[in-house]
Amino acid sequence: MRILLAEDDPIIADGLVQVLKKSGYAVDHVANGADADTALLSQQFDLLILDLGLPKLPGIEVLRRLRSRKSPLPVLILTAQDGVEDRVRGLDAGADDYLTKPFALPELEARVRALTRRGTGQPRKIQVGPLVYDQAERVVTAGENLVELSARELGVLEILMLRVGRLVSKEHLVDHLCGWGEEVSTNAIEVYVHRLRKKLEPLGIHITTLRGLGYSLEKPAEG
Ligand code: CA
Repeated sequence: MRILLAEDDPIIADGLVQVLKKSGYAVDHVANGADADTALLSQQFDLLILDLGLPKLPGIEVLRRLRSRKSPLPVLILTAQDGVEDRVRGLDAGADDYLTKPFALPELEARVRALTRRGTGQPRKIQVGPLVYDQAERVVTAGENLVELSARELGVLEILMLRVGRLVSKEHLVDHLCGWGEEVSTNAIEVYVHRLRKKLEPLGIHITTLRGLGYSLEKPAEG
């Protein structure tokens, strides 16, 4: 899951980026409306968190442009406490939900979960053999047991499960895991895959390495 955060207040932005990353989302942050518009034109996201009071291009205009392109991307707008009019204009322009500042971070996380659940059109639960990944709750279980994974391991496994039986390149994994300006090396990917193997092999789930190409989560044999 990849989120674009458009927020010009560096303190709010830093807090949001940290909390969302801890929850396992990849986050790209832009600090003005023009950059948000450019990012939305050139990249794929699962959610946009949009401050309405942005420099260069107002948030409401970013939203209008997005919707005029018929994008179904879920949008959560952030508005000032007294910004009732803003809120109404935002919802009229096609925002899915809003939060007024200041907001509690658990509240934000709950909205993000709800919006990413409804927005992507992807299945909410993916099963591979005994492994079940609940996309909304962001947990992986095997039977009754929770499979303990770090956010990054979960990010890798998510992609592999979505493409079970198919090749996933290291570059694709790097791209999925990190926002701009962040370093996730292909070496780090190897480490995550190594750790995932240790956790998944006992469950009969195998990740194949295709040397120089990438990885593939093997489809378990039927029966
Ligand atoms: Ca602002």
